[in-house]
Amino acid sequence: MVEINNLVRSNVLTLQPYSSARSKFTGKDGTFLDANENPFGTLNRYPDPQQSELKKKLAQLKGVNTQNIFVGNGSDEVIDLAFRIFCNPGKDKALTFSPTYGMYNVSAAINNIELIEQPLNSAFQIDLPTLRPYFNDPSIKLMFICSPNNPTGNLIDRAAIDYILTNFKGIVIVDEAYIDFATDESLISMIDQYNNLIVSQTFSKAWGLAAARLGTAYADKEIINLYNKVKPPYNVSELNQKAANEALDKIKKYEENLAVILSERKRVEKALSNIKEVQKVYPSDANYILIEVQNADQLYTDLVNQNIITRNRNNQVKNCIRISIGTPEENNILINAIKNIK
Ligand SMILES: *Cc1c(COP(=O)(O)O)cnc(C)c1O
Repeated sequence: MVEINNLVRSNVLTLQPYSSARSKFTGKDGTFLDANENPFGTLNRYPDPQQSELKKKLAQLKGVNTQNIFVGNGSDEVIDLAFRIFCNPGKDKALTFSPTYGMYNVSAAINNIELIEQPLNSAFQIDLPTLRPYFNDPSIKLMFICSPNNPTGNLIDRAAIDYILTNFKGIVIVDEAYIDFATDESLISMIDQYNNLIVSQTFSKAWGLAAARLGTAYADKEIINLYNKVKPPYNVSELNQKAANEALDKIKKYEENLAVILSERKRVEKALSNIKEVQKVYPSDANYILIEVQNADQLYTDLVNQNIITRNRNNQVKNCIRISIGTPEENNILINAIKNIK
């Protein structure tokens, strides 16, 4: 067990959170004259600050209690609030494993927190021996582990994550934005065992709701309470909550789309590995594929000139390009274009 309160910034510990009119009274019927809303219109009322209906559905789907769920304005908010709750600007540090998702770096910089970037090894796995010295550094409050990792596409070994959870006395955030596409199970089931674990997921990828901005965090309720304390009161709009609720009512559609993306991933992997110019196709547990080519900058530009936009990751992984899995038609356009580039 980690003593969570010892990790929390003192201003957050003593914070009196904003008390919104709508969280005091939760009844549905009544004459609502408490929040200075406009009585006319359809989006005139403030949304549920606790997202109760959405959390009920997520609790059932994920097999957790509603008290173990935070819903944010995208994963971006889950990441940002972690810095704001646990890291004193200009003083504390966080750590992640590169190459990885760029938002940890940006969010750390916004919050004036030094982010230590430990390189992943040649198999894109965590190198535990070089990590060990950091376990005893009390200024490191957060570790971000992205699994499946963006942009490399691989899962991080469970044994390494378990080792970190057991030995690191700060907060461990496992970013599972792509877990729906992976062969491994989510770590959500581990939040009972590790009270310093935050599992972050999103509606942006497998649920197809990137435009709605919905990120989720699963953790011990002590951590979730801290998130609720510092979040903006109405951080998830009525429209966004509705979009998520509707998506969760259509699990079949989600599963169908997921199945198409997974079979397309297999097909694209195979097609690309048969092209001579493609030197390596990294195996993927996500909805994108990382490929290595002779000259990534060149290929990227050639594709852009045909209105095909991929993600050039040359500055992260030498001569690599990350390609999202699209519809079968989109994937054919991509495959043919790479085939025909000389
Ligand atoms: C896409 C992505 C997310 C999703 O971010 P949202 O703010 O929820 O859209 C989170 N983490 C990683 C690693 C991602 O690649």
